[in-house]
Amino acid sequence: MKLLEHEARALFEKYGIPHPRGFLIRSPGELQERIGELGERCVLKAQVDVGGRGKAGGILVADRATAEKKAAELFEREIKGVPVREILAVEYLEIRQEFYASIAIDRSTKQALILFTDQGGVDIETLAKERPDAVRKASLPLLMHDIPPFMVRDLLQSAPKEIGKILNQLYRVFCEKDALLAEINPLVVTPGGVYAADAKLIIDDNALARQGITVNRDLTEREREAEKHGFSYVELTGDIGVIGNGAGLTMATLDLIEYYEGRAANFLDVGGGADQERVMHAVRLVAADPSVRVIVVNLLGGITRCDEVAKGIISAGISQPVIVRLAGTNEAEGRKILDGCGYRMMESMEQAVKAAVEAVR
Ligand code: GDP
Ligand code: MN
Repeated sequence: MKLLEHEARALFEKYGIPHPRGFLIRSPGELQERIGELGERCVLKAQVDVGGRGKAGGILVADRATAEKKAAELFEREIKGVPVREILAVEYLEIRQEFYASIAIDRSTKQALILFTDQGGVDIETLAKERPDAVRKASLPLLMHDIPPFMVRDLLQSAPKEIGKILNQLYRVFCEKDALLAEINPLVVTPGGVYAADAKLIIDDNALARQGITVNRDLTEREREAEKHGFSYVELTGDIGVIGNGAGLTMATLDLIEYYEGRAANFLDVGGGADQERVMHAVRLVAADPSVRVIVVNLLGGITRCDEVAKGIISAGISQPVIVRLAGTNEAEGRKILDGCGYRMMESMEQAVKAAVEAVR
């Protein structure tokens, strides 16, 4: 998971990495209240999870007099389609020199790969392509507690010595936070010292629990609801709701919808052994999406019993039509329950999907 700049910056700070003074704001008024903390000029930085923010208009320099107006302007903007809800306001730095420093996982050697260049501030991929000699590299076994001094010297060459300390602090963050990437671009030299003018940290998703990080900021209400019930649920952009059991069967249902030129509104796998209540919650959840016009329920009875599924569908009491394909344990009982309540039960998944696609045409 990629952290936002202000989140990464707060972690970097804990490890002693110096950064410009600043604070997070959620409205232009909040900036006005604290503008005195930032000096005569400040930099307003949109906190959006987007690469190349600066070029995309997400970074503005402002004077004390214009700061509030500029902040209001930035809050109105979308950066590569992402709305700006938070801005990091920092003091303006007199930049003399920009460096780039990063530490990443090198999967092939299972080591930390440190990259450093005195051509900071630019896009590192472009630089690596156009001037590979300008990017210095070093590999380090992750068992090492520090970057050895000789390695720091080779990386820095003529760069200020204090950067060596920052590289080691960055390496600590990288190791202790289970990062896939820790990056400072640009790392700047100013008359007042060296500062991390930007902060980027990507944490290994497999380590989020250990790091005590909960991810729910990008989940929709329905996705949160799905998480609560333990469903695998992904929202898509079509109008046919899909409920299946098992990832394979659910994916196959999506493929069939595509094959018959329909568009799925979601993927929902209820998991194994779903009872009446679980099925009811799943149906309600999918039906709560306003773009869903018809729902295909494609379940294979094993431990899951078809009569339980049928009762679950009926008790959901939703307004959209439900097209059902049930096979396996207690299939006949399930069919009987549904027939009595006016639901369409299909013999095969092909039929069920075809009927759903026709229903929305
Ligand atoms: P990014 O585009 O998301 O990487 O955003 P950055 O935080 O790296 O900012 C982009 C660029 O804006 C930097 O490379 C700097 O050149 C410039 N910039 C950011 N803060 C300052 C500052 O305080 N002073 C000056 N002179 N330039 C800055
Ligand atoms: Mn940057």
